[in-house]
Amino acid sequence: MLKKFLSRFRSRPSPEATDSPPKQQPEQRAAPSDVKPQRERQRGPRPPAAPQPTASAPPTAAAQDRPPRRRRRRKPAGPGTESTSAAPARREAVTGQQPRDIPFGSVHVSAPVAKALGDMNYEAPTPIQELVVAPMLEGLDLVGQAQTGTGKTAGFGIPLAEVVDGAELYVQAIALVPTRELARQVADEVTRIVKYRGIRVAAVYGGAPMGRQIADLDAGAQIVVGTPGRVIDLLDRGVLKIERVRTVILDEADQMLDIGFLPDIRRILRSTPRSRQTALFTATVPTQIRRLIYSYLNEPQWFRVGEESTPVESIRQMYCEVARRDKLDALLEVLRNEDGEQTLLFRRTQEDVDWLVRMLKRKGIAVDAIHGGLRQSERNAVMQAFRDGRVKLLVSTSLTSRGIDVPAVGHVINYDIPEQVEEYVHRIGRTARMGRPGTAITFVSEWDIEFFDAIRDHVGADKLAEIDLTLYSSQQAAGAG
Ligand code: AMP
Repeated sequence: MLKKFLSRFRSRPSPEATDSPPKQQPEQRAAPSDVKPQRERQRGPRPPAAPQPTASAPPTAAAQDRPPRRRRRRKPAGPGTESTSAAPARREAVTGQQPRDIPFGSVHVSAPVAKALGDMNYEAPTPIQELVVAPMLEGLDLVGQAQTGTGKTAGFGIPLAEVVDGAELYVQAIALVPTRELARQVADEVTRIVKYRGIRVAAVYGGAPMGRQIADLDAGAQIVVGTPGRVIDLLDRGVLKIERVRTVILDEADQMLDIGFLPDIRRILRSTPRSRQTALFTATVPTQIRRLIYSYLNEPQWFRVGEESTPVESIRQMYCEVARRDKLDALLEVLRNEDGEQTLLFRRTQEDVDWLVRMLKRKGIAVDAIHGGLRQSERNAVMQAFRDGRVKLLVSTSLTSRGIDVPAVGHVINYDIPEQVEEYVHRIGRTARMGRPGTAITFVSEWDIEFFDAIRDHVGADKLAEIDLTLYSSQQAAGAG
């Protein structure tokens, strides 16, 4: 059936992909807004938050809504950061500042970074990279409103590759991310970008043995990518030192706050020099994020890619009405007609994920599961198998709905409807990555009407096509006969 659905939609032109952020969440809106954060008071008026530039506008136009720009020189790293000339340079790696004379779209990069981007087949920057690489290279603070799928990781990875010094064996940059899976993904991408710069990247996240992470830090990692909890743990043990960090990246900041990482983030920020550069990436800007920005960022530039909370246009959004007791049959019908592309299926709870995987395996369908109840080593193994394409069908809780980038995902199935519109936008954003086509099918049961109405109101009824299951048409035919 998916083939049939797809052929119905494939003829439509596929506009440029722009992952876009959802609206702020109700519980975040409820936060009181009359408490002025300290740094805001010190710094005077807020920069305008909206309207912001979008990816559809050219990058130059995007700059028009920025708050007044105060140029800052790249800050000194603080005391005791003189280059240790005895530090070993890594073989075939070019350390130290390199001339940035190779054009990569509108930005210029150094030869080692250009070579790495070439290896990765990145021929031109994505809109967010066009926007953020230059200000990041200038050492400015910034807020980037964009989701993963827009090339945001390289947006900060490229500048880090240029400014971090591989000959200096201490942590110069730290990127905080909400989930362990994202920590691995971001660390892997940054590792590829810095490949010829002799820079070491350490991924630190919970659920994994500390020994290896501590060894990476001891070996002189210059960039650390981690989840806030593990970062705090390593700080407390004295094995992670961030007092000389020059750049802090807060990635998927709104999700980090949703998880409850705010106290950890504040503590980590306070452990870094005040002179640091801070870049915050977020899909939404609820009050708490706004406070964080005005408390810890220094006159940031604001960038936004994509219309707020709109799913990318290249996702074909479909739904089918299916009674709860018929969902498994409906899924089997959808999978039977699947076209072999990778599929990410979402369920609400860990138990529901496990139950469905058992049922599908019983039917002889190759499938794997991921959720927070698994050991981290299992989560890593499943994610890797899915990334490698060895697992074609992955059943997940909302654990993988944010940030996870597996470009080959052709279909998302909402077996259980998301209860929040934002969650819907995040989930379906796992497909149609970087302009590829992708479909999202949402099962709407008799209990889901309210949630579905909210989703339809949000994305627009014209964007959601109903599909008919033969499951029901054959029943009707049988009844009629
Ligand atoms: P991200 O938003 O950082 O998760 O990136 C989404 C996807 O875009 C990843 O698969 C990246 O490898 C890919 N990507 C990032 N930048 C570029 C680029 N300049 N050209 C082509 N692909 C890119």
